[in-house]
Parts: sequence; structure tokens; C-alpha cells
Amino acid sequence: MIIVGGGVAGLSAAKVLAKKVDFVLIEAQNYLGGRILTIDAAPNLTIDMGAQYVHGDKKNTVYDICEELGILLSDNDDSDEDDDVVTSDGKRIDSDLLEKANDFWERVREKAEDEFEDRDSSTPVSFGDYVPKQFRQRLQSSSSIPKDLIEPLIDYFVKLELTETSCASINDLNLVEYVAYEDLQGEYENDLKNGGYRPFINYLKSFIPNDNRVRLNCEVLRVKYRHEDQKLLVEMNCLVEQRRKQMICDHIIWTTSLGHLKKHFHEIFAEIPDLIQQKQNAIANLGFGTVNKVFLVYKKKFWSKKASSIVLLHTNRQFQFEMSDQLREQLQNERVDPVVFDEIVRMLFHYDVLPSTDIPVLICWFVGPAAIMMEKLSEQLVGQICHEVVCSFLRISWQKYPLDQVVRSTWNSNPYVRGSYSYYSIHSNKNDGKQLRAAFAPEGVPRILWAGEATHPGYYSTVNAAHETGIAAAKKVIAEID
Ligand SMILES: Cc1cc2nc3c(=O)[nH]c(=O)nc-3n(C[C@H](O)[C@H](O)[C@H](O)COP(=O)(O)OP(=O)(O)OC[C@H]3O[C@@H](n4cnc5c(N)ncnc54)[C@H](O)[C@@H]3O)c2cc1C
Repeated sequence: MIIVGGGVAGLSAAKVLAKKVDFVLIEAQNYLGGRILTIDAAPNLTIDMGAQYVHGDKKNTVYDICEELGILLSDNDDSDEDDDVVTSDGKRIDSDLLEKANDFWERVREKAEDEFEDRDSSTPVSFGDYVPKQFRQRLQSSSSIPKDLIEPLIDYFVKLELTETSCASINDLNLVEYVAYEDLQGEYENDLKNGGYRPFINYLKSFIPNDNRVRLNCEVLRVKYRHEDQKLLVEMNCLVEQRRKQMICDHIIWTTSLGHLKKHFHEIFAEIPDLIQQKQNAIANLGFGTVNKVFLVYKKKFWSKKASSIVLLHTNRQFQFEMSDQLREQLQNERVDPVVFDEIVRMLFHYDVLPSTDIPVLICWFVGPAAIMMEKLSEQLVGQICHEVVCSFLRISWQKYPLDQVVRSTWNSNPYVRGSYSYYSIHSNKNDGKQLRAAFAPEGVPRILWAGEATHPGYYSTVNAAHETGIAAAKKVIAEID
């Protein structure tokens, strides 16, 4: 039995199989965890490049494990936490106003749920055609929202939604499936202590016997099915041994990301036409976008003590700021197209304060084309842009609080992930989800089982989804073998 992929889904499957079934776990990269990747940025400062929150705290195995491991940031009383809300023309906005707008956004989402919950999912509706319009109407009819903030608030909440879903355009999000998304119950964003998700990955790893069952730096290139003896033939390229290898097995649990499948599905399974037929539409139709983070590490805080985030409202259509000579030079050296630069600046909208440390760190979120564009610039340049923009919004000198360190993720150019997480695009519906998770079962025997966040019917895109689908696939294999 072979598990392909050592992210949460693969490791969770391995944990279940460990004492019952002989298996090998093949991982293309040089670490286990996949889209969970905790790095040591400095002494006493770890950074989660991928997943960072535990979503939900009720009836939730990931939460329970993290609680057991003692890695959740204690129930911090966030009642006196606040957002620093600033506009591009230099005004500070009362955070209550953002709260009010958030309330409207939530109510529009609830209305959408009532209206579209029972809709036939084969007739998609664009999120962009419904939610921003309804939201605008609510903002317009409220006496407490200044008229000049209506469009900037819509822009902000749309960007926030794109970041939640990883969708590049609000018009590509299928509202019918969006309202069917099963929210994990309880508090939505539970933070982890310094150390992030690493202990969770170590916990999963600890169940795998230390006997060469995990092969790192081994990329599965091709899978064939032999009808004559009902065996699967797996070809891989192993970097350490610097050679191609073959393995034969009865079952595979396949966990690579939807982004990886979009690029490689046809070549890997070229010799299993039934499987291509079964899944190609689902893989093409379902959405997989890019969200990236830039961590700005400082020596001194320049945001308010109570701030949990800094919110940028773009009140000028084309925000321009007086950039430093240093930044101008860097842009020239890297030959950055002004269109790319403008898009990156336009998409800067939300900086979170990293809560797990006293070291001043801001996390800057990117989504859409800007998230992909910024991967092509140097880390230093991206950091400097994020730094000067936030300073400009806050009307403080960028020199007064120089950047100490920059770390950023590059999920789109990671050849083994190719993006961040999945969503239902306007071209997809429930049937695609079903096809994606359906096992390849020649002669009625499930031979290739699919796991990974994108295959979860309810809360795809999360660590929980990866965890549960990995466990479920492993249990199916055990049931088959017993
Ligand atoms: C920026 C970002 C922020 C996120 N934030 C959160 C969050 O706060 N909370 C949350 O719950 N979720 C979050 N997520 C989503 C969460 O990280 C994923 O849903 C989850 O980690 C996916 O796990 P997986 O096992 O399904 O896939 P992966 O982690 O992608 O694992 C698949 C593995 O397969 C390997 N692989 C690929 N191709 C091959 C091959 N040919 N041969 C062998 N191995 C291969 C890959 O290297 C990878 O390790 C975030 C993701 C990102 C990128």
C-alpha cells in the first residue's frame, strides 16, 4: 500500500494504517507537512508559511489534538483588541464603523444562504453578482456609513472574502456552493503559540514506525493499473538515490493538492483512461487559487498596543505614495513592470499582528494575480513595498521603523502544490466534488482512494478537511483488506 503525499492528509492516513497495514509514504519534497510549513525565522520566532489557524473548536479533532498538545494560544481575552483602520488619504476610522460594515456583510451572507441554500447546484450564481450589490445597498441606506467610505469598504470586504476562499476574482466564486459550505463549529480563528502547527505535524509523524516507510524527495511520476493481476505500478523519481524506481501495490491513497492535479493529472495517470475520464472535468472545473503571506519583522512596534490588525481602506482610486529612493532603485534593478507594482500596491489591504510573540511582526495577506506576481520579486523588495505602503497609510516615516527581516511564502511556484486551497468556481458544482473524491475502483474494488483538503464535502480548504479525508481513506483500505 502506498500513500502519495506527506501533508496532513497523508500523515493522518499513515497514523491510522501504522499498526495494521504495511505501507510506504512517498513525499516529493524534503519535509513532511505539505501546506503546513513552520519555519524558524529567528530565535523564539516561528512562522507558519501555510496554515496558521485552527478553525472551529467544537466537535473538532484537530482542535482537540492541539489542545491536548498544549499548543493553542490560551483563550486570550480579546475584548479590548481592536483594528487600526486607516484610509489612503490619511484618515483614521473608528473601528466600530468597520464592525458595523462587517455586520452588514454577514447579514448579506445570511440572506444569500436563505435564498440559495436549496438551489440546484447545477445552475451556478456568481458571488460577485449578488453579495457586493446587496452589501452596497445596505451601506447606502445606513446613516452611520459616510458615503465616501462605501466603495472602499466594499473593496476591503471583497478582498477579505477572496483571501478566505483563495479565489482570484469574486465573479469566479459559485455562490450556490459557497452557501453550502459547512462552517467548522465554534470560534473560527484559533491561534497557535510560538511553534505554530509544527507540534501537530510532529504528533502525526510520531505514529509512523521509524523503519524507512517514509521516502522524502521522491516524486511519483506515473501510475499504471495492471488488469491482469489487479496491481498498481508506481513509478517515481528519487532524488537521494538519483534514480527512478518502481513499486507495486494493491492500493494507493492519493493526497496531492488540486493545484498539483490540475497540472499533472493527465501525465501521471495517462495509462489509466477510465480514471482520466472519471476525474478530468472535476479537476478542471473546481477552483484552486493562491493566497500568500509576507511577514514583516520589526525591532519596534509602530501600531497601537491594542491593535490585532491594521486595515487599509483605499479611498483613492489609484493610491500613490512617496516611495523611498531605495525602493525606486530596487524596482528598477528588478525591472518591475509599473502595472505589476500598481497591482501589488492595490491589493495591500490587511496586516495582522502576529499574536504568538512579543517580537513585532505583521502578516500581510495577498490574494489573486498580485499573490502570484509578488512571488517573482525578491523577498526584500516585496517586504519593502508592504512596509512603505503601511507606513504611508499610517502617515509615519518608513525610515523611523526600519524593517528588520522579511519572510514570504511562494505557494504558487511550489511545483508540488501550485497554489493554496480549493473552492467551488462558477464552473463547478457538487457533482465535481463527488467525482474528485470518488475512488478508482476497477471490478468494484477501490484501488486508488483520494484524500486531501479538496476532497472534503463540507469544509474543504482546511487542515480539518485534510485530516478527516486522510483518516477516512485509510479506514476504507483497512476495511478492504480485512
Ligand atoms: C497560505 C495558506 C494559509 C492557510 N491557512 C490555513 C489555516 O489557517 N487553517 C486551515 O485549516 N487551513 C489553512 N490552509 C489550508 C491547509 O494548509 C490545507 O488545507 C492542508 O494543509 C492541506 O493538506 P493536504 O494533505 O490535503 O495537502 P498538502 O499539504 O498539499 O499535501 C500534499 C503533499 O503531496 C506532496 N506531493 C505533491 N506531488 C507529489 C508527487 N508527485 N509525489 C509525491 N508527493 C507529492 C506535496 O509535496 C505535499 O507535501 C492554508 C493554506 C495556505 C497555503
